Amino acid sequence: MSTQKTPITVAYGDGIGPEIMRATLDIILAAGAQIEIEEIEIGEKVYMRGVTAGIEESAWESLRRTKVFLKAPITTPQGGGFKSMNVTTRKTLGLYANVRPCVSYHPYVKTKHPVMDVVIIRENEEDLYAGIEHRQTDQVYQCLKLITRPGTEKIVRYAFEYARTNNRKKVTCFTKDNIMKLTDGLFHQIFDEIGAEYPEIEKEHWIVDIGAAKLADTPEAFDVIVMPNLYGDILSDVAAQITGSVGLAGSANIGDQCAMFEAIHGSAPRRAGQNLANPSGLLLGAVLMLNHIGQNDVATKVHNAWLKTIEDGIHTYDIYKEDVSKEKVGTKEFAQAVIARLGEKPVHLKAVDYGAPRPVELKPFVFRPHTPAKKETMGVDVFINFVGSANEIGDKLKTCNTDRLQLVVISNRGVKVYPDGLPETFCTDHWRCRFESPDNTPVTHSDIIDLLVKVKDAGFDFIKTENLCYFNGQKGYSLAQGQ
Ligand code: NAD
Repeated sequence: MSTQKTPITVAYGDGIGPEIMRATLDIILAAGAQIEIEEIEIGEKVYMRGVTAGIEESAWESLRRTKVFLKAPITTPQGGGFKSMNVTTRKTLGLYANVRPCVSYHPYVKTKHPVMDVVIIRENEEDLYAGIEHRQTDQVYQCLKLITRPGTEKIVRYAFEYARTNNRKKVTCFTKDNIMKLTDGLFHQIFDEIGAEYPEIEKEHWIVDIGAAKLADTPEAFDVIVMPNLYGDILSDVAAQITGSVGLAGSANIGDQCAMFEAIHGSAPRRAGQNLANPSGLLLGAVLMLNHIGQNDVATKVHNAWLKTIEDGIHTYDIYKEDVSKEKVGTKEFAQAVIARLGEKPVHLKAVDYGAPRPVELKPFVFRPHTPAKKETMGVDVFINFVGSANEIGDKLKTCNTDRLQLVVISNRGVKVYPDGLPETFCTDHWRCRFESPDNTPVTHSDIIDLLVKVKDAGFDFIKTENLCYFNGQKGYSLAQGQ
């Protein structure tokens, strides 16, 4: 049994949060978890005090000291002006990896997928969640999708290391790189490169649409799946749901320095205060935490007692089914049932063994050596807010050509509409106008400014520009559809 106490920060959250947190702490303490609890307040009450982030400044001090956060769900107030506390915490603490094991407990929990055991590893900080959104014209809104080399290296490396440590056989990558060739293309490419360092692990890549369909239909075909933020957000809920209930899955948010552990579900306000909620999701989140802080022996004990409880048919209302369950219990009684089984193992469900306690190793991430590419600007996309036809904007814009930058193509929502567009193509008030160097030699910022002055003088409302760069001689931008 581990002896040294590890300080952890605990938040009881909102709705069913306090009940499931009490149940979880009762179980892990009874199992011998050596933890020293520091409590912080987050969520609704904090938001209502006017703190738009849902977490007090003082709470960061505890989180930065303990570096381990066990968090119950919170209620996010409706309406604008409030920031998501979850997103703020992940980003502030650099929790780049979201790890969500999704396991079915057939035949004790009803599921269409009796042999499912999938771990979804979701990138947690980038992609469309960078939160960079703009309304650019009357008709058009934009959200920037950012995929970075360092961010992707970290999550992909994490997925392979996770697979190796946990004796998993295969890592699958989901992207949409047939469409997003640069952003998702980078994610896929780094997956292939880093994957090559793990010869013992099988690797595969699926386009996310058909991959998602396959996951929902045949989850037993997958082992560990790594993906960018948005796909991971959606598919980790799908994966958890098809095990039988979202109330059963816990998740870990891992960073170089800190980690946060939680249930995947929300605060279920309608169930609050009635001793109804299933504490399993948060408890399995706490199991991930115990492993993270090196108390693997306690994690094993808690997890096996929980499996035995599920196997014995002691179920909360959300998974209770007359034909498989033996007893419908409340949150407290469920916790007592798990405590009563500490030291036992499941008979039919697969028991877990997380090995001996081990010291926590915080290793700063080491990136692969990378020589920055030679960057040359070969042109510029000028985005213009214009109400009219493609030929009107194109013919007028051509008069703005300079010696160094000349209009090559205009696209609307990515489709080429000038020159020689089709009358069938629907156009909005948002035009991407591509100017390139006529002799294919690099242009300067001054060349771009000279062009913009002419565009302004011609009376155009330009919204933004995007430089067209080559990196080591390779185009760092996509062509317009039809270009
Ligand atoms: P929810 O997950 O709270 O509830 C969805 C459904 O699942 C409800 O029918 C609920 O009764 C049931 N349920 C959820 N957890 C359960 C449990 N442990 N035991 C038994 N039944 C359970 O999702 P929601 O209703 O969309 O959201 C409620 C609030 O939670 C919202 O304010 C939302 O923003 C917030 N939320 C917070 C987190 C978080 O803090 N990590 C995550 C998701 C949602």
